[in-house]
This record gives sequence, structure tokens and C-alpha cells, in this order.
Amino acid sequence: MDKARLASALGAPSGFGQSQFALTRGNAFEARVKADGGAELLRLAHACLDPGAVPPEGAAVPDLTAHGPEGRTARTALALREATRAGGWALLDHPMLALDVAGSLAFLEPDAVVVHPDGSWSVVEIKSFPMLDGAADPAKVGAAARQAAVYVLALEEVAGRLDPTPVVRHRVLLVCPKDFSNLAAGSAVDVRKQRAVTARQLARLTRIEEIAEALPEGACFAPDRSAGELTAAVAAVPATYAPECLSACELAFHCRDHARAAGAVTRLGRPLRAELGGLATVEDVLAAARGEAGDPADPAIAALRRAAALRAEALATAPGMRTAGPEEEADTPGTHTAGPVEGAGGPGGRAGASEEVAACR
Ligand code: SF4
Repeated sequence: MDKARLASALGAPSGFGQSQFALTRGNAFEARVKADGGAELLRLAHACLDPGAVPPEGAAVPDLTAHGPEGRTARTALALREATRAGGWALLDHPMLALDVAGSLAFLEPDAVVVHPDGSWSVVEIKSFPMLDGAADPAKVGAAARQAAVYVLALEEVAGRLDPTPVVRHRVLLVCPKDFSNLAAGSAVDVRKQRAVTARQLARLTRIEEIAEALPEGACFAPDRSAGELTAAVAAVPATYAPECLSACELAFHCRDHARAAGAVTRLGRPLRAELGGLATVEDVLAAARGEAGDPADPAIAALRRAAALRAEALATAPGMRTAGPEEEADTPGTHTAGPVEGAGGPGGRAGASEEVAACR
């Protein structure tokens, strides 16, 4: 399914993705880093990931050309096996990996994979955001780490089919422009946490056949259908919008509009949703806070009532203030403007704050 076209047909084209300018600049930087047989990239891999190994001079750069994604995946697996057996450094430029996602094969293309002289493999991610004074934007590093973790999982599947099984390193190489210059800076990023989270999420995904079976007869997502038909088809698939969708899914604007209209608390961020337990809408939350609904023994409801009581007390005692019900300041479905809460944890939010990196070269 082409989700970008579907989003446009639904009348909610997404801003997801990079601008043409950013893509061109990113491609130019990647080409520069990989010039001369990837000499600079391999130098960074040596310095950041494996400084004890022999320097990467004369590294192999196998040809990965093949027909179609399946052919490229098979060619990549063969090249990885040959490079591992050969010993020494090897650079696989844009290899193709496959990963089972909810019962369907997804093809993935990391920027590069490096084979180390000890036979281990590392993922390389090349990004166009800068590393300033040796540190990069934590949110962007977090997103890169999550992306690299998926590649690590896919590489582990390839490694698992070889005997002996090569080690797939959980420290990936992140390469960025240094201080807005054309020079490259490298940093080792530990993706163990992101790998574990992604593996858990993949294991819990509902299989595509099960989703398809639950769809109503005739549901179709072809972008040439009318907006009404497409809205009904998309609505037939359960979705839980969260601010993180804005940086990950083409349907984010469509799902955000629907989450707002339904008053869903998920749009305020997953952490808040987790705190609220079974309260799924702003209306439920307000009713619970006012004491109109909910079990008072529920810790979330007890906390809401305590917060509402404290607020009323504060407003009643503050000079010149009037007592207002919590609903007066509540977000009215359909009229909400994304405030500082919405998006927390998303782009520019706190997500990935722990993934701050420092350049090693
Ligand atoms: S809920 Fe999020 S991930 Fe799912 S379709 Fe909507 S925007 Fe995409």
C-alpha cells in the first residue's frame, strides 16, 4: 500500500519525509563519505568501533548488483558470507536485508554494513544532521538508533543462517557532517535497548492475514477510490495515534485529526496514556476527575480526583481568581491546537534524550 498517496487521497497529505533539498544534501554527503572505496567511512569504523583491529587498508567492496529486492537480498547474504570467510575489512554499500514484519517480508536497505577482520558485522548509518562540537541532537540520534536497531535485527537473521554464526555488533556507527562542514564525524551508538524494544514489538504485531480477515467485505485502500470510501476503509483498521507517528508514518495527519475528534488521550503521548490506565478519552478523564464516573479505588482515578481537589482549593484561595471546572481548560475535540504537550517524545521532544552521542573522530 502506498501510504503517501493514500494520505493525499484522504485529504491529509503528510509532511513526513525529508525535503528535496535535505535529500540532495544528504545524498551528496553520503557520496563524499563513501568515495575512494569508502576509505573515510572505514577509517571512522576502525576508529569508533574497532580501534584494536588492523587499519582498514585495501578493504573489499563487493558488488551487490542483482535483479529485484529478492536478488539483492541473496547477493548481500552471499557477499557477507564471503567477506566473513576472507577475513579483513569489507564494506557493503547499500546492502539489501529482509525482515519478517507481521508475516510479510519487508526489504531494508541500510546505508552500509562493515565486516570487521574478526568476522563480526556492524551497521553504518549516514545522516545529514550535524555533529556540533562532538555532539548531535539527541532526538535525531534516537531516531537513527531505532532505525539502525531494525537493521541489526535483520542482519542477525542473515548471520543466524551461517555456521559458525558471525557476531552482529550492537554498537552501530553513526556518521554525520562535522560542525556544518563537509567533513565527516563518526560516533559509536549503542542500540541494545532499541533492538530489544523493536524485537518485542515485532513479536507482538498482529499478523497481516488476521488484519485482512477482520476487514469488512470490499474494503479497499486504492488511492483512486473516493475520500469517503477510503476513510471508511482506513477506519476499519484499529489504529492508536501517538505523537511519534508524526515522524514515522505518512498517515499521521489523518490519524491525528481522528484522534482529536474522538478526544483520544493517546495524542498527548504514550507516557500519559500509560498513566491514565483504562481512561481512553479526555471526556472519561474529566468525568473521573469530577467524581462522576470511575472506581475511586483505581490509583489513576484517585490521583485525578486529588489533583482536581487541589486545583479547586488553589483557585478558591488565590486572590482575584475564580474557580473554574477542569473542563473549561480542557482540550475540546475538533478545536485543539497542538501545544507543548502534544509532540513531547516526538520530534524535538524528549525522546532519545538518553541517546546523546559524542564524536570519536
Ligand atoms: S496510528 Fe500512527 S502508525 Fe498507525 S496508521 Fe495512524 S499514523 Fe500511521
